[in-house]
Amino acid sequence: MQNENFQQWLSQATELTIYQKKQAFNELSDETHQALTEEQLGEVSYCPHCASSKFTHWGQSHNLPRYRCKACLKTFNVLTGTPLARLRHKSLWLPYSEMMLESSTIRKAASELGIDKNTVFRWRHRFLISPTLHKPEHLTGIVEADETFFLESHKGEQGLTRPPRKRGGKATKRGTSSEQVPVLIVRDRSGVTSEEILPRVTSSALADVLIPLLDADAILCSDGHRSYQAFARESGISHRPINLSAGNRVIDKAFHVQNVNAYDSRLKGWITRFHGVATKYLDHYLGWQRWLDSHTKSLNPQKFLREAVRANYDYQQLMLT
Ligand SMILES: [Zn+2]
Repeated sequence: MQNENFQQWLSQATELTIYQKKQAFNELSDETHQALTEEQLGEVSYCPHCASSKFTHWGQSHNLPRYRCKACLKTFNVLTGTPLARLRHKSLWLPYSEMMLESSTIRKAASELGIDKNTVFRWRHRFLISPTLHKPEHLTGIVEADETFFLESHKGEQGLTRPPRKRGGKATKRGTSSEQVPVLIVRDRSGVTSEEILPRVTSSALADVLIPLLDADAILCSDGHRSYQAFARESGISHRPINLSAGNRVIDKAFHVQNVNAYDSRLKGWITRFHGVATKYLDHYLGWQRWLDSHTKSLNPQKFLREAVRANYDYQQLMLT
């Protein structure tokens, strides 16, 4: 390029977005020389080959801190054995994590980072293993429960037998169609929230989710659906049904389902930006919103990325055992 043209080209650099600058930087510097640091990716706590917790630092490999296991003598890094190891453009993970916190669409992220939409899609769902895997395990005190429904969707899957639904189509009748996927949302008064996709809203499906989750002394508040009544009877969990249609919104000034209903509204509002999500990935989106909702005061892309990498590492171990 002629110097004059180059100067003209360079003068436009100030108009680049921060993501475009990052992309340009990667293009200009050899990407292979950019290391992701331990601080960005988090540390490992065990060997992915044999699960031993005894290992030492062992230089670097693939621009990542490397470790050597004292038990099996194999070397590894924080991505070893995970599908993340094979993904390209790792230096863009941090800016992408920031976009995850902004709930960016695939299209927007791909265009701002200058990478393929399929790549962003893979990152999104790899990163979302973290909130999906790390759900709260214990809810205490007054626990509000509510079931909500999502339209079943095979978005993105091949070989559909029925004509594709209009994007983001509306459900016909709440809860009654076989095309509705029920999700149980539970939230206690300290704000700890969890959710689970149910096969159907039955007392046994509720028991499968709620018994391991609820403290024995918890008091369950629900809209009074008969499945909750049956579940409470069978499990011995205290239950305060709130009959909303009869106008009893709050019982004894304490028992209501307003927090879980508000959470449900935020979830439904938030998820509309994706114009219908594939049922196959519904749990990822539920986890994503739960993560955002519970970190409103501490949204931090570095923390998000570290948790994502760590979850992929743990998930890999889980699959092997
Ligand atoms: Zn080992």
